[in-house]
Amino acid sequence: MPIDATAPYDDSNVFAKILRGEIPCSRVYEDDFALAFHDIAPQAPVHILVIPKGRYVSWDDFTRDASDAEIAGFIRAVGTVAREAGLPAPGYRLLANVGQHGHQEVPHLHVHIFGGRQLGAMLPRA
Ligand code: AMP
Repeated sequence: MPIDATAPYDDSNVFAKILRGEIPCSRVYEDDFALAFHDIAPQAPVHILVIPKGRYVSWDDFTRDASDAEIAGFIRAVGTVAREAGLPAPGYRLLANVGQHGHQEVPHLHVHIFGGRQLGAMLPRA
């Protein structure tokens, strides 16, 4: 079920549990601002999720409430993860689902990194 991106942060969400080490993840990168791990149900040969360490529901509250250091650190981490996965030359796609129409399911901001094949057109045409 898609979440309400304007709801308060819920510390029981699955990515909060991963950040607290309560459930495992297949980690590919970590620094002071971000954690990256393989998606549990990959939709491309490379499908990595990058999440900020702070308590942000979505791109909406992150871009409103996060400090400049958190925003810069998180965005740099996304680029680093993509480079370390060898994606810039063949190309890749970033996706951040937000709320109901974005079909966001986990209420902790995450950027999907997709790559490893030709990804085709941006969205299915309705
Ligand atoms: P979204 O629809 O943008 O909220 O995407 C949530 C993503 O989280 C989906 O691609 C799921 O496969 C992924 N996911 C859910 N639980 C886990 C988990 N425990 N470890 C890794 N990925 C997960």
